Amino acid sequence: MPHIQQLAPHVADLIAAGEVVERPASVVKELVENAIDAGATAIVTEIRRGGMGMIRVTDNGCGIAPEELPTAFLRHATSKMRSAEDLGKIGTLGFRGEALAAISAVSRLDILSRRSGAQSGAALHLEGGVPGDVRECGAPEGTTITVSDLFYNTPARLKFMKKDSAETAAVAGLMQHLALSHPNISFKFIKDGQDALHTPGDGKTESAVYAALGRDFARSLVAVEGCGGEVEVKGFVTAPLMGRGSRSMQVFFVNGRFIKSQLLTAALEEGYRNQIMKGKFPGCVLFVTLPAELVDVNVHPAKTQVKFAREKEVFDAVYHTVMDCLDGRGRPAEPAKPVEQTVNPRGDFFRTMDAKTYREEAAKPAVQSTPAAPKKPVWDTEWKKTAAVADVVQRPAGYQAFRPLEKPAGAAFGKPPASVTERKEEATAAKQPSAPGLKPEREEVPRPAPMREEKPFVPAIPQEKLDLPEQQTIEPQKEAPWRIAGEVLNTYIVCESEDGCIYLIDKHAAHERVNFDRLKAAAEPPMRQTLLAPIVAELPREDGALLLENAVLLEQFGFACEDFGDNAVLVREVPADIDAADTVSTLEEFAENLRGGRDLNEKRENLLHTMACKAAIKGGWVSDRKELEVLVEKVQRGEVKYCPHGRPVAVKLTRYELEKMFKRA
Ligand code: ADP
Ligand code: MG
Repeated sequence: MPHIQQLAPHVADLIAAGEVVERPASVVKELVENAIDAGATAIVTEIRRGGMGMIRVTDNGCGIAPEELPTAFLRHATSKMRSAEDLGKIGTLGFRGEALAAISAVSRLDILSRRSGAQSGAALHLEGGVPGDVRECGAPEGTTITVSDLFYNTPARLKFMKKDSAETAAVAGLMQHLALSHPNISFKFIKDGQDALHTPGDGKTESAVYAALGRDFARSLVAVEGCGGEVEVKGFVTAPLMGRGSRSMQVFFVNGRFIKSQLLTAALEEGYRNQIMKGKFPGCVLFVTLPAELVDVNVHPAKTQVKFAREKEVFDAVYHTVMDCLDGRGRPAEPAKPVEQTVNPRGDFFRTMDAKTYREEAAKPAVQSTPAAPKKPVWDTEWKKTAAVADVVQRPAGYQAFRPLEKPAGAAFGKPPASVTERKEEATAAKQPSAPGLKPEREEVPRPAPMREEKPFVPAIPQEKLDLPEQQTIEPQKEAPWRIAGEVLNTYIVCESEDGCIYLIDKHAAHERVNFDRLKAAAEPPMRQTLLAPIVAELPREDGALLLENAVLLEQFGFACEDFGDNAVLVREVPADIDAADTVSTLEEFAENLRGGRDLNEKRENLLHTMACKAAIKGGWVSDRKELEVLVEKVQRGEVKYCPHGRPVAVKLTRYELEKMFKRA
């Protein structure tokens, strides 16, 4: 057994340095984070040969006094912490007092710094951590650190360095993330003499996204904002039609730190369920903020992983924020299209009736039962704008939708904002029907459906929300209804909007979506029709067996099936809005759905897709004008945007685009 000896200090330093400085990107990260901590508003990062040739970070921050220059490079030398208690309240990025010591230990380093307001600056050269003399010299305010010959004295590390291009990419990625999370700082990144990034530092995340991730990506984004429990979520996600081929554009920050997290990815993608095409992935730049004690940021500087103390809360907050904003229910995404009248006699068509019943109803003379639309209380629109609780989504108990701004508009004028209860009463009073016995019409609140109860993230609606009548009305529509010009190819509805845009609506896709949403929200199994003559469906053996195994589930979808022997299934009842002639083909697809689903939820979802599709008006069918009107209205209001498979239901053609085709523009 060899003797035990303590390592020589410089060997110990090199080992410690290796932990902090893994590669050029880690040097850049430490230097730029120091610059941020120094209060810089402009930071220039320059690298050559992936950082192996040279790394230079220049900032206009507070600078370092000449006499403190050598101190900054001592191990555990920091201006950011004085005592053990400070550990708990660290607001700065670096805090271990180790970075400069480590970087200088494995490189040749030059620092030039001038404190703001000082007459002159000072320079210092270090080689393998050994400082030379501090020289007074002229310098701009701020600090410039140049690192050359990285790892020159640790050949083992040098050998393991990746190609320059890989290192360049790593630094470029890092610069993007730093720029995105600090929109108030102007970042410039120069690689091998070329400008690779330049953000304006105007404080707007949009500008940083535009500069760092490119114009096309920036244009594909919609803003989202929301919070659940103690978790706030803010940022941008791609519009569903702009799905990307990979997850590379999913950028998450947790409390300002760039993080890779499967949990966040899953929550984001869940928010797009049924809205994005198969094989496409959403992109995002999302900032998740939560109390520091609820997240375990691995303090190792190179790591980009975190652990959340309350994973479900984080998941729910991201998921609901994304979903609600995409649906137009949340705060910032494109504002929901307003509707003039709150009472819409046909609005619930697809919710309550099948096409046949509707035609019968429509043929009857109209019954006068609509009370005059109640005058809206003044605060209503204002409050909705700020509180943004415009819709009722089934949220987990305790899920706080969109937190009202701390200070509603009125507060500035000394009037305390009415509490939610007062508003609720006001709203109820205002909504009292003028004639006794007449119930004001409003959209039914979707009660938690039994089918949905098993879905992990959508339990009960808080009672308070159920009681707020204003939340359940459709947003008022200022825009005139689109004019239906006609139908072409028996498939596409052609419409014209007041502002001169043309919309082509795929009627099958739109109706499929409407059906899907209705089926999904339904509290009860769909209405059924008992077939006069039961249908015998002869199916492949496994299909028949699979359907009969799931007979209880099929019951919930309105199908009554029995074993008829010899691989056949006897069907006595089918849902009212499915054509009996489609029974066998529907069951065949059901078998496929049941085989494909990974778990019960997915199987149900698949079955819903099939039901929605089968119950939808088909392309090629001649449609009733009223049916078309209802669909167009739903598309115009933004209630229907994508079919359940994520295909668009409508395409827009502007006057300009048309004129371009005709070479008029
Ligand atoms: P830490 O950042 O953990 O304090 P570092 O080794 O990264 O440790 O830096 C040591 C000290 O040097 C910092 O606490 C700070 O006072 C000073 N310093 C480093 N970089 C800069 C800079 N760009 N501008 C001003 N001061 C800096
Ligand atoms: Mg530091």
